Amino acid sequence: MVINMNWGVGLGMILDGALYRGEIGFAGEFSHIPLFNNNKLCSCGKHGCLETETSLLVLVEKAQEGLKAGRVSSLQGIPSNSPEEAYNLIIKSALEGDQFAIELLSEIGLKIGRGVSILIHLLNPKLIVLSGRGAMAGRIWQAPIQQALNEYCIPRLAHNTTIEVSELSYQAEMIGAAALVMENFEHLHLPKIETPRYEEAL
Ligand SMILES: [Zn+2]
Repeated sequence: MVINMNWGVGLGMILDGALYRGEIGFAGEFSHIPLFNNNKLCSCGKHGCLETETSLLVLVEKAQEGLKAGRVSSLQGIPSNSPEEAYNLIIKSALEGDQFAIELLSEIGLKIGRGVSILIHLLNPKLIVLSGRGAMAGRIWQAPIQQALNEYCIPRLAHNTTIEVSELSYQAEMIGAAALVMENFEHLHLPKIETPRYEEAL
């Protein structure tokens, strides 16, 4: 299973060697499992979805709130108009050891881990890869997610699932898109392009 930690939280499932898409292609809407009683509206129109507590936008919001409340951190001066830049700064600070930035990521990791424990109970996967923009935080995710599994998972089940953080970062999406085209190339109805003969091209 591949979890795409991003502005939402996506999920790809490879079951018995093939990507599982579900009946109409919507399998893996991990973002919208209703896990929290937080009364926070989700992008899907419901409330309390996993996304409302674990999206990287929430990470940026919590950083801004904490700084306003007086947290001491190298995140001071975090841009308020660019979530992308704010996110990059949080990751940079966390990787340099900033305690507040690490706390923010851990808080989100615990909640993602709670969702992951549901996946483990449902499907008993061999491997779960944390991927996407969020994977830039690398090993920082391992401890909080493991903590959540300790807390919420049946040990016998959790023990057999390996959690890894992808090193592909943004490239994962590019490679995935290229693979999708390659896999379906034979079925594409491409317009026939007449290649001009050499002398015509001149
Ligand atoms: Zn939702």
